[in-house]
Amino acid sequence: MSLLKIENLTAEVDGKPILKGIDLEINAGEVHVIMGPNGSGKSTLSNVLAGKSDYDVTGGTVTYDGKNLLDMAPEDRACEGLFLAFQYPVELPGVANTTFLKHALNARRKYVGEPELDALEFVKAVRKKARDLNMPDDMLKRPVNVGFSGGEKKRNEMLQMAVLEPKLAILDETDSGLDIDALKLVAEGVNALRNPDRAFLIITHFQRVLDYIVPDQVHVLSGGRIVKTGDKSLATELEKTGYADYTGEAAA
Ligand code: ADP
Ligand code: MG
Ligand code: MG
Repeated sequence: MSLLKIENLTAEVDGKPILKGIDLEINAGEVHVIMGPNGSGKSTLSNVLAGKSDYDVTGGTVTYDGKNLLDMAPEDRACEGLFLAFQYPVELPGVANTTFLKHALNARRKYVGEPELDALEFVKAVRKKARDLNMPDDMLKRPVNVGFSGGEKKRNEMLQMAVLEPKLAILDETDSGLDIDALKLVAEGVNALRNPDRAFLIITHFQRVLDYIVPDQVHVLSGGRIVKTGDKSLATELEKTGYADYTGEAAA
């Protein structure tokens, strides 16, 4: 059974149609990549999946782990194991990194009927995951993302992902503007978590990250529609030709 099934999804922002009939099916264990020109609707798709309020779904269905995703509150989507990493991670002044992670994880455990984590066990587990990501302990005590460099924010997104162990992780241009070390870090974060029960949707404008992550499928989103699907070689082809071949098709 598919983990995520999107059928004929249409959505608008401020009355302006952006997604014009998206079909996409992702099975557990798979890594899918969505590429496409700026303004094609990539972030709109991730925001709709996250349940952001500015985006109005006007048609279609989204089934996630057998449930109607569009009927679920955003926080319930997170509790059900949907994780979103954004291009610009949000800063939370006054909220220590570990506190944030503990609340997020305990909310999810409570939702599925598991007991809260023992505070000490939790700190031990987070420290181990932080060390695996070469993150110094003091970053765990600091307020979430406040004053973090670009690379540190990405590291922190990968830590959140590693701690929350999502079923479906969506990375919206998490690779944009990164130097090669930070890019590798994101790729390693993804690759370390790849397993048969988990899936990834990686949204990117650039082919670069695919030097480090081997996807099962690559989709081109243009003009609010998926206009082409292929394997890794499609990304290589796009690197050479750009999106010009697809923008015309989408406009037609
Ligand atoms: P991409 O991520 O592929 O660059 P987006 O999904 O961000 O594309 O944007 C698609 C279109 O929707 C653009 O024309 C953009 O201006 C518009 N759009 C997206 N979000 C908003 C918003 N919150 N308010 C108004 N317009 C938006
Ligand atoms: Mg954009
Ligand atoms: Mg975007």
